[in-house]
Amino acid sequence: MSDTVRGKRVVVVGLGLSGVSAARRCLAGGAASVIVNDRRGAADIDLARYADLTARGVELALGGHDEAVFEEADLVILSPGVPALPAVSKASARGASVVGEIEFASWHVDAPVLAVTGTNGKSTVTTLLGRMMEASGYVTFAGGNLGTPWCEAIGTEAATRDGRCVIEVSSYQLEATERFRPRVAVWLNLTPDHLDRYGSMAAYGAAKARIFLAQQRTDHAVVPADDPVVLAFARGGSAKVHTWGGPQSDVRIEGGCVVGPGGLRVPIAEIGIKGAHNVANAMAAALAAFLEDASVDAVERALRSFKGLPHRMQLVAEHDGVTFVDDSKATNVGAAVKALEGVDRPVVLIAGGRDKGGSYEPLVQLLRTRARAVVLLGEAAPVIQRALGTRLPWELAATMDEAVRRAAALASPGDCVLLAPACSSLDMYRSYAERGDDFARSARALAGGSQP
Ligand code: ADP
Repeated sequence: MSDTVRGKRVVVVGLGLSGVSAARRCLAGGAASVIVNDRRGAADIDLARYADLTARGVELALGGHDEAVFEEADLVILSPGVPALPAVSKASARGASVVGEIEFASWHVDAPVLAVTGTNGKSTVTTLLGRMMEASGYVTFAGGNLGTPWCEAIGTEAATRDGRCVIEVSSYQLEATERFRPRVAVWLNLTPDHLDRYGSMAAYGAAKARIFLAQQRTDHAVVPADDPVVLAFARGGSAKVHTWGGPQSDVRIEGGCVVGPGGLRVPIAEIGIKGAHNVANAMAAALAAFLEDASVDAVERALRSFKGLPHRMQLVAEHDGVTFVDDSKATNVGAAVKALEGVDRPVVLIAGGRDKGGSYEPLVQLLRTRARAVVLLGEAAPVIQRALGTRLPWELAATMDEAVRRAAALASPGDCVLLAPACSSLDMYRSYAERGDDFARSARALAGGSQP
């Protein structure tokens, strides 16, 4: 590893997946000392999980962000979402480098980087694009915000000049980048999310726009033709701008097919991921892949064979002519709207969870034409209930089991019970995946244990 780490005193903030991964890389790179600092105290952490780290000399500094921990740091590596901390600002003022985990990983990777951001669709596109590159013969790492932290790629073949790194980057991660320079930067969409952290759409958009910050003329920005705000951000950068989905776009829809460079032509009905938003995702991935020399054959194969990730529009049960679809990953209003648009039958929606501070109005508007009723769950239930007013029947449920039973009772044969909560899961669950699993379990129990 380069001189960025050797002999340095490093403090990593956040004992999570990416923090642990960064700490390991620093050890391997010859850091003089590595401290992992976390707000949570020892009582809230399963310390046994970190035994290998501490055995190798990493010190854990838990229970707050004490200034003394940062006093001697040369390098501070922040995990995504760490708020502004006085101790870190002081370290920075004293001359320590303060960087995010993505920035840190980027210093140690020679491979061309394809980065994916946006409010929704990042994980889907990152995975699909990873498959396209892999199928084109490149040793590829696909991860970042999704799945495996990028630091895990350091030192592997995927991080060499001949490899490819496809990295999902959230706005939180982009906040702490400076030199991170993707050769291809994909920005999928921008709708309200995380306003509890950013306060305004302008601030949220500006964080995401950092994906273009270090790009140069020979790099590529990949954006939707129909989103003027995202397009304007891309034009504000230095990279060459490419669009998908417009009549003049490099990748577009023609005659019911996705078409593109090199004779790419795949009928929409044959694309493995379903719904209008996924056609957009498919076009974005294909365009980015072509810009990094993927083969047409590989792109077409991936478009057909990739059936999507769990908890995104997943059919989990059928009972009495009613389908149960898990889109637990719809953790904001924009995603829930797309989920609803993607269902071609009347819907009973299960929504609610932890509110993120945006308006539910776009969802309520659509519900009036698409939904039979709504079942509300979790902390945000009263907020959504107020937004619905008398425009649609709604019921409250205390548990997922109850929500599924109520939704099933409200549904008629031919309907879909859709879990697209428009909220985060953290009021009742540890993750959206746990919430989706709970929904699937309840729905299958109702269906007598049968799976579709
Ligand atoms: P992310 O990683 O950005 O959260 P995912 O691929 O996990 O994105 O998808 C999250 C949810 O967002 C999905 O469950 C779906 O409801 C919605 N979604 C996916 N792609 C799009 C898109 N292009 N536009 C709007 N919503 C989308």
